[in-house]
Amino acid sequence: MLVDIIGKRRDVKIIAGCVDEGIDGYRSPSLECARELAESLSIEFVSLSYEEMGYERMDEVVQRMPIIANNHDEAKGMMPCSYCGVFRRQSLNALAEKVQADVMALGHNLDDMAQSILMNLQKGEIERSVRLAPHTDTPIEGLAPRIVPLRWVPEQEIHAYAFSKGLPIHHGDCPHAPGAMRQQSRAIVASLEAQSPGARHGLLHALEQIRELYREARGSHQSDVTNCQQCGEITSRPICQSCIMKQWLTESSQ
Ligand code: SF4
Repeated sequence: MLVDIIGKRRDVKIIAGCVDEGIDGYRSPSLECARELAESLSIEFVSLSYEEMGYERMDEVVQRMPIIANNHDEAKGMMPCSYCGVFRRQSLNALAEKVQADVMALGHNLDDMAQSILMNLQKGEIERSVRLAPHTDTPIEGLAPRIVPLRWVPEQEIHAYAFSKGLPIHHGDCPHAPGAMRQQSRAIVASLEAQSPGARHGLLHALEQIRELYREARGSHQSDVTNCQQCGEITSRPICQSCIMKQWLTESSQ
């Protein structure tokens, strides 16, 4: 849709990008669909794998999680998505930097966004909620602002659009997803929407208002973001979570 809408502008270059988490039977086929689509649209396609980023493939991370949990109290009770989410965020930033992107468009839909908002709120994580993309009004220095053009569009409508256009789609669930908090949230959001249509939009509107109030309350006071002492990425701690997890992985292989 981006290619249809702005692809012809001479001041815009669109590059398609995917992160390869290294999950057999799940990511490889969907990467192929993305590659095929980019090719049919005559746009460049780039990908970055967790291995290239210095992590391990997610299939390998999952194997090592019991050892890591044994070695570190902080890692006890973590699910695969706890690792994957951190690695993906860093990989997306690296991907944007690799192609020197001015803006990064993410493919999250209304359902994804509503689930994320609910998960953050139920954990009391307001800071994290207000930092959710899009970042157009509050860009973070050193990062390509993220936009989420499909965030008001329900997942089912995106499916319907893709089917009607004959776009290549891979249907499948991540084998490491069971037990993840998002699964719970997905069920709750679906049930809320079934009982009160519009609930997903309501959650997004609520976040927009919280963001606004938060901005007003903080005024010019910056949130506590700094740069990781090891990799230089933006973080709220001296060493970012990605570097800590990378260290855990290195130790677990010894
Ligand atoms: S479900 Fe979890 S482990 Fe699987 S790709 Fe998504 S974040 Fe990664």
